[in-house]
Amino acid sequence: MSTEETAATPAAPSNFIHDIIAEHAQSGRFGGRVHTRFPPEPNGYLHIGHAKSICLNFGLAKTYGGKCNLRFDDTNPAKEDVEYVDSIMDDVRWLGFEWDGLFYASDYFETIYQYAEQLIEKGLAYVDSSTTEEVRAQRGSLTEAGQHNPYRERTVAENRDLFRRMRAGEFADGAHVLRAKIDMAHPNMTMRDPLLYRIRHAHHHRTGDAWCIYPLYDFTHGYSDSLEGITHSICTLEFENHRPLYDWLIDELGLYHPQQIEFARLNLTHTMMSKRKLLELVETKSVSGWDDPRMPTIAGIRRRGYTPAAMRAFCEEVGVTRFNGLTSMGVLENAVRADLNKTAPRAMAVLKPLKVVLTNYPEGQVDELEAVNNPEDPAAGTRLVPFTKTLYIEQDDFREDPPKQFFRLAPGREVRLRYAYLITCQEAVKDPVTGEITELRCTYDPLTRGGNAPDGRKVKSTIHWVSAEQAVTAEVRLYDHLFSIENVANIPEGEDWKTHLNPKSLEVISDAKLERSLATSQPGYRCQFERLGYFCVDSKDSTPEHLVFNRTATLKDTLAKIEKRGG
Ligand code: ATP
Ligand code: MG
Repeated sequence: MSTEETAATPAAPSNFIHDIIAEHAQSGRFGGRVHTRFPPEPNGYLHIGHAKSICLNFGLAKTYGGKCNLRFDDTNPAKEDVEYVDSIMDDVRWLGFEWDGLFYASDYFETIYQYAEQLIEKGLAYVDSSTTEEVRAQRGSLTEAGQHNPYRERTVAENRDLFRRMRAGEFADGAHVLRAKIDMAHPNMTMRDPLLYRIRHAHHHRTGDAWCIYPLYDFTHGYSDSLEGITHSICTLEFENHRPLYDWLIDELGLYHPQQIEFARLNLTHTMMSKRKLLELVETKSVSGWDDPRMPTIAGIRRRGYTPAAMRAFCEEVGVTRFNGLTSMGVLENAVRADLNKTAPRAMAVLKPLKVVLTNYPEGQVDELEAVNNPEDPAAGTRLVPFTKTLYIEQDDFREDPPKQFFRLAPGREVRLRYAYLITCQEAVKDPVTGEITELRCTYDPLTRGGNAPDGRKVKSTIHWVSAEQAVTAEVRLYDHLFSIENVANIPEGEDWKTHLNPKSLEVISDAKLERSLATSQPGYRCQFERLGYFCVDSKDSTPEHLVFNRTATLKDTLAKIEKRGG
């Protein structure tokens, strides 16, 4: 689906899961209970797709006065780590949610082992000693039934004995697996004797060396849901094929049975939602870490300056469907703009400074001018900004030879300095060698304090500025899309997707000039730089001596409007 189509879908598509819950409420299936869970595997940092799942699961619990657990699906010892566990808890809380129960699938290892023995006793599971290649070859295809191998006919006693010896550590990795005995001709390949356990002599971040056999995800997941009394087990569409197995495993043992429900994954343009690939970006140092502000991780967008409210609003807006699509990054950016427009204090900052000297302004004089902190929030009040003889304006706000639609400063032209005076450019001073413009010599009209001329004359443009004498120098990091192509998922298998990384995703400005009031901004502080965008103080690299600001989002729309109306 194209971005345009995505943009054309209704703002808040109805959530079909509400209908399912309503049905259950009517039939009494769960006695009116709603108990969901968010089940991440702790093998990486959470991304924006996970945020959608978090908002959905915790949101449903909230809507229905139910509960939501946080469960770590930690069945794969090789890739998991406590660093990830900690970051996941931190991110869930940052999004504004608190779990009712905190669980680890690894806590159920003993119980799940007992379930496996029960299946063996019922003749529903067997130890297969084929190699991985043999197992694959015997599975058949969509058009061809799988084949039975002799191990499938092992007796219960034989299976019990072998499985216990697998647990006891008698065999090397890969020597045997435990499989469900279902149907090798089943049209759903997931049901062709799926693997339940494999041997892995690996250290687990929680259970240590207690186990050398580990249950597979499909074998663990439903039982974990069942043990926790989950009512609605919500997962992404690719698990739809696994639902019959989920149901079979629970029903064959006569256990409490939650309802699995699938919904479409979130995909965003110009980025990717895969922990595995995001880890690759971190490991190859293509980004500075999991919390690089260009990353689609929750840690990254947090550091970028996104608010939890904006993230929740975004998840609400994209809605929950059963249709895999591609959402424009613009939808996410608009969500943070909408939130910060209401809440972020305004300030003036000049990213690419051009010096302006007011030739008729008294040397050493400081005029403290009143500036509005947030036009959207009168309660935010006002502040004083110092106006002095030497100022900085944006290089882009001056043209020596202005094109037709350019209404900002140019030789002989008068413009308004925001909250200050009308100034007129008299001369552009150039470097004699390079020819580069080094400063503008301008005059100001002392009668225009506050920005209006008593004689009613109009100017076509208002530009921002900073006092050169009282400016704070800061590093400003401007971020752009991580990938230059829109649909990263479309990169053919085998092609190195990293070649599509946007080489211009980060521009560092080392000597931006900020208004005085920003000198003491603390890490995490968010504001709008007027006419430029939303920015926040970097939570890692910023110090009082060396301020670092990250651009959260541009103000694209506003700038375009200012240009259009020429004010
Ligand atoms: P990844 O491929 O990035 O590792 P995953 O699905 O393997 O993702 P899990 O840790 O297993 O990651 O996911 C935890 C929960 O988040 C699951 O319920 C999963 O369905 C959901 N989830 C993961 N990615 C997305 C996404 N892009 N959109 C919506 N939900 C997602
Ligand atoms: Mg996974």
